Amino acid sequence: MTQPCVLVTGSTHGIGYGIAEAFARQGARLVINSHLPDNGALAKLQALAECHFIQADLSTAAGAVELVEKAHATLGRLDTLVNNAGTFLDTPFDELTEELFDRTFNLNVKAYVFASQAFVRKLAPGQEGASILLVGSTNSVMAERHSVAYDASKGAVLMMVRSLAVSLAGRGIRVNGIGPGIVETPLTKRGLDVPGVRKSLNAQIPFGRVGQPEDVGGAAVFLASPAAGYITGQMLFVDGGILAI
Ligand code: NAD
Repeated sequence: MTQPCVLVTGSTHGIGYGIAEAFARQGARLVINSHLPDNGALAKLQALAECHFIQADLSTAAGAVELVEKAHATLGRLDTLVNNAGTFLDTPFDELTEELFDRTFNLNVKAYVFASQAFVRKLAPGQEGASILLVGSTNSVMAERHSVAYDASKGAVLMMVRSLAVSLAGRGIRVNGIGPGIVETPLTKRGLDVPGVRKSLNAQIPFGRVGQPEDVGGAAVFLASPAAGYITGQMLFVDGGILAI
């Protein structure tokens, strides 16, 4: 089998990097992305596999489409798209503004839709084994205080997984979601480092610790692999047991 060609959005650090690294260890050909410079991620991944970096801001549909088209041109084909770039918003409801709401939805929802559409358009006629992954969250099904825009955006990801899966099944394209719990990344590190916070969160997680980006990578590799060939429309929560409580 040829090496799978994978695009991971928002992958210079955090969960996206963990996912990219897991694919690299499987010998995939990769494109990683950020709106900022690659921050050393490219060199680390190139030590493991073929990897390219494309800088693109996914806060507009045009940015998302351009990234997919450039990634396809770079690798010559695409087998898997991992929609991961996302943002968190922790704002009291009274202080939520249209600007903050739009920023959250543009990245967490709109970019996923239009990157996925561009990916589907780039598939060759009869191409087998294509799949799309969408990174949601335990917040796709579980609310958090002061997170209306974020929770709504991640709830939308859950229904996008199901809706795209149903829409694309006839073309043999699988669509699945990954729902991380609390994962230590640049997005969450500042909060986790507040005295007492990590200890209290660890105590609420059945596994007794917050997740690391590499905990999520294996789930992505599995869902994109032929071993998951009859799985579509599912959300795989990678949360150390939080949702089982
Ligand atoms: P992060 O902020 O650590 O990393 C996000 C990545 O996306 C970075 O590479 C960043 O450069 C990139 N990015 C940000 N804005 C972008 C833009 N406009 N265009 C292109 N790239 C952009 O975040 P993370 O914690 O790794 O989160 C990744 C995904 O996982 C997000 O969708 C997030 O909602 C989700 N998630 C995270 C957690 C957690 O605890 N960390 C939990 C559940 C879900």
